Amino acid sequence: MTYVVTDNCIKCKYMDCVEVCPVDCFYEGENMLVIHPDECIDCGVCEPECPAEAIKPDTEPDLESWLGLNAEYADKWPNITAKKDPPADADEHLNEQGKMEKYFSPEPGEGD
Ligand code: SF4
Ligand code: SF4
Repeated sequence: MTYVVTDNCIKCKYMDCVEVCPVDCFYEGENMLVIHPDECIDCGVCEPECPAEAIKPDTEPDLESWLGLNAEYADKWPNITAKKDPPADADEHLNEQGKMEKYFSPEPGEGD
C-alpha cells in the first residue's frame, strides 16, 4: 500500500505535504507533486495536511492510473522536502474539475 497524489494537486501545489513526510518521498513536477510508492511507508500524516485533498490511500477505488502516474514520475522528477511558495493562482484552481486533461505537465519541477 502507498498513498498517491491525484489531480486536485495540479496547479495548486501548496506543498504542506512535503513538510510532514518522515521519509521525504515527494517528487516535484512543474505543476504537481507525486509520491514514490516504493518509498512511502503508509503513515498517512500527509493526507490531512493537503488543503486540496489531493492525497489518497491507494486502497480507495479507481486510483490505478494515479498510482501508475506517481510511480512513473517519482523516478523522473527531483525530490522535494521543503515547502516553497505555492503558485500565485493556486486558489483559483483549487476545486476545478478535469485538471489532468487541461494542465498536466510531464516537465520536472526544481526540487530542493
Ligand atoms: S499539499 Fe496537496 S496540493 Fe499541496 S503539493 Fe501536497 S499534494 Fe499537492
Ligand atoms: S503517507 Fe507518510 S510516508 Fe507516505 S507520502 Fe504521506 S507522509 Fe510520506
